[in-house]
Amino acid sequence: MIRFENVTKVYDQTTRPALDSVTLEIDRGEFAFLVGASGSGKSTFLRLVLKEDRATSGAVYVAGQNVANISSWRVPRLRRGIGVVFQDFRLLPQKNVFANVAFAMQVIGKSRSVIRDTVPEVLKTVGLEGKEKRMPHELSGGEQQRVAIARAVVNRPGILLADEPTGNLDPTTSMGIMGVLDKINQNGTTVVMATHDDDIVNEMRKRVVELKNGVVIRDEARALYTSMI
Ligand code: ADP
Ligand code: ADP
Repeated sequence: MIRFENVTKVYDQTTRPALDSVTLEIDRGEFAFLVGASGSGKSTFLRLVLKEDRATSGAVYVAGQNVANISSWRVPRLRRGIGVVFQDFRLLPQKNVFANVAFAMQVIGKSRSVIRDTVPEVLKTVGLEGKEKRMPHELSGGEQQRVAIARAVVNRPGILLADEPTGNLDPTTSMGIMGVLDKINQNGTTVVMATHDDDIVNEMRKRVVELKNGVVIRDEARALYTSMI
């Protein structure tokens, strides 16, 4: 589903590469943690998958396609196949829960009736049944992240990228979010989650790809992680 072949990303010629000859394959349906200290290259990896940046050398394939060969007018279609969630939720503050999720369907032209049927289903999946009319500021952090996840997956992307999704949440709330991500993965979505939270990684026992200074130093199934923070 995601394949990096010898990918190097240099932002600044005077410092070391953000990613350095990374070769890695994440299969359809996998759940993989991308771990490593701040500055190790996790966000750069995710940005290259989304074609928000381009590799200095090497090739990035998403769903079999080399993203370098995707013309700019087709980039939105690439991104439609990839849901993204962030540490800071990024909800639309003036819209209620329903409308935040509905918005992702409106922008791709889904009909009102499809939106009306689908949004409650996805809200149920993330555990927010009945909270359609709440405004983001009326929700806890964990609930806000659930809305963000619902929005990210409502159009059934093949891939969900999560960049430190539990970074602003307490441990108990974080585990609830992991349960949601696990469920989405079990429904068939490939999930890649960047984190430096070892408690979560150790609880989940999924594949762990560890980056250090832009280099993959470990790639193991059902693995543990000890952060050096
Ligand atoms: P992480 O997500 O693991 O914290 P990043 O991918 O954000 O790591 O950063 C990897 C390296 O690339 C860091 O040294 C960071 O300073 C550098 N970097 C990231 N984005 C940029 C940018 N837009 N311009 C210059 N350097 C960047
Ligand atoms: P707009 O951007 O047009 O003002 P809204 O933010 O009001 O849209 O909501 C987008 C769509 O979601 C509209 O069709 C609205 O009727 C519908 N909607 C909003 N909240 C709910 C809800 N709690 N239950 C059902 N439909 C809702």
